[in-house]
Amino acid sequence: MISVVGGGIMGALSALVAARFGLVDWWAPSENPQRDDGAQARAYALAPQTVELLRELGIWTALADKAQPVVAMQVFHVQPAAQVDLLASDAQLEALAHIVVHADLLAACEQAAQYAANIQRKGAFQPPDPLACDPALACPPGSSLTIAADGKDSRLRRAAGILHSRRDYDQMALVMAFTTEQPHGGMACQWFRPEGILALLPLHDPHQVSMVYSLPTAHALQLKAQSLQDIACRITQDSEHRFGALSPASEACQATPLAMTTAERMTAGRLVLVGDAAHTVHPLAGYGLNLGAQDLLALRQDLQTEQTAHAKTFDPGHRGVLQAYAKSRQFQVPQVQWGLDILWRVVMGETPGLAGGRSMGMQFVQAMPHLRKWLVGSALSGRAVPF
Ligand SMILES: Cc1cc2nc3c(=O)[nH]c(=O)nc-3n(C[C@H](O)[C@H](O)[C@H](O)COP(=O)(O)OP(=O)(O)OC[C@H]3O[C@@H](n4cnc5c(N)ncnc54)[C@H](O)[C@@H]3O)c2cc1C
Repeated sequence: MISVVGGGIMGALSALVAARFGLVDWWAPSENPQRDDGAQARAYALAPQTVELLRELGIWTALADKAQPVVAMQVFHVQPAAQVDLLASDAQLEALAHIVVHADLLAACEQAAQYAANIQRKGAFQPPDPLACDPALACPPGSSLTIAADGKDSRLRRAAGILHSRRDYDQMALVMAFTTEQPHGGMACQWFRPEGILALLPLHDPHQVSMVYSLPTAHALQLKAQSLQDIACRITQDSEHRFGALSPASEACQATPLAMTTAERMTAGRLVLVGDAAHTVHPLAGYGLNLGAQDLLALRQDLQTEQTAHAKTFDPGHRGVLQAYAKSRQFQVPQVQWGLDILWRVVMGETPGLAGGRSMGMQFVQAMPHLRKWLVGSALSGRAVPF
C-alpha cells in the first residue's frame, strides 16, 4: 500500500499518479475554506508539461472549459522603459500557459481521486512522534512508500529528520482579482517596477485578471491596508492602464510572505517529498506548482522502471526507486530555484547602473526575434527559467 499525505493539489495529484502502481491511502482532510497562506485566492499559470500530466491523469477534461490560455506575454521594465513581447505562436504552441484558479483545479483533482478505484481517502495524518527524526516513525504504518505532499511546513519532513534551509525575501505577494475595463485578450503582463514585480494574469472571464504583486514587506502591508477600491486605483496606475481602469473582483486582498525553502534531501527511508514540502520558489515566474508536477513526472518514471524490471516482486518503496528519484531531482530543483533567485536579484537589484543594464538587455531581446523564439522554447521545455 502507498500512502500519500497532503490534502492540497500536490497531494491529490500524487494520489492519482500513485494509484497506477497499487492501492493508495490518501491522507487528506477537506481544505480549510480560509487557509492562512491565502492559497485559495491564487490563479496558477500551468506550463504545457503540467497540462499534459493533468491530461494523462484524466483531470484536464473537467478543467479545460475553465482554463484561460495565455496566447502572449508582455514584460515591461518601468524605469528606464523597455518591453519584451513573447508569443505562443513563436514556439508553435496554442498557449504559453493555461491559467486556472485554485478552487477549480483542486475540485477537478479531488473529483478524479474520488472516482479512482485504487484510492481510499482518509483524514489528516499525524506522525505519532513529530520530533522522532526517524523516517520509519514519520510514515503511516504498513506503507511500502509514503509520498509527503503536506506543504511548506511539512510535519512528515520534520518527523523524518530531514533538515531544510530557508532564504527569506523580505517580500510579500499580494494576490487579488480585478475586473478590467478592456478585455484582456489572453495576454499576461508583468512589470519590473523599482518597488516590486507586478503580474496580471488573464482569467477565464474575458474581463477579469488575477494580480500577484511582490513588494517589500512594509510596502505590501501598507497597500493591503487600503480599501479594495484604492488598491484597484493604485494597480490601474502601476499597470499603466494596460487593461484600462480596474475594479475589485475579490472580497479581500491576500498577502503571503515569500521565501525559497529547500529540503536537504528529497528522500529518507521509504519516504519521498514532493511539491512545497520539498521546495518553494519566488512566484515571479509562476513556477512553484509546475516544479512539483515535475517531481511527480520523475517519480512516476522511476516507479515505472522498477515495475518493468521486477514485475512479480514490485516494491514501490524499493531503495532503487528512492535513489533514482533523489538523483533525478538533485540537479533540476536547485537549477530552477537558483535560476529564479538570480533572476529576482537582477530584477530587484539597486546597484547603480543595473536598472539601465536591465532595460538595455530587454531592448536587445525585443530587437532579436530569433532570441525571443529560443527563450520561449527553452522556458517551456524546462531548459531555462521563464519570465
Ligand atoms: C503568490 C503565489 C503565487 C503562485 N503562483 C503560482 C503559479 O502561477 N504557478 C505555479 O506553478 N505555482 C504558483 N505558486 C506556487 C504554488 O502555489 C505552490 O507551489 C503549490 O500550491 C504547492 O502545493 P502543495 O500541494 O505542495 O502545498 P499546499 O498547497 O500547501 O498543500 C499542502 C496540503 O497538505 C495539507 N496537510 C498539511 N499537513 C497535513 C497532514 N498531516 N495530513 C494531511 N494533510 C496535511 C494542508 O492542509 C494542505 O492542504 C504560487 C505561490 C504563491 C505564494
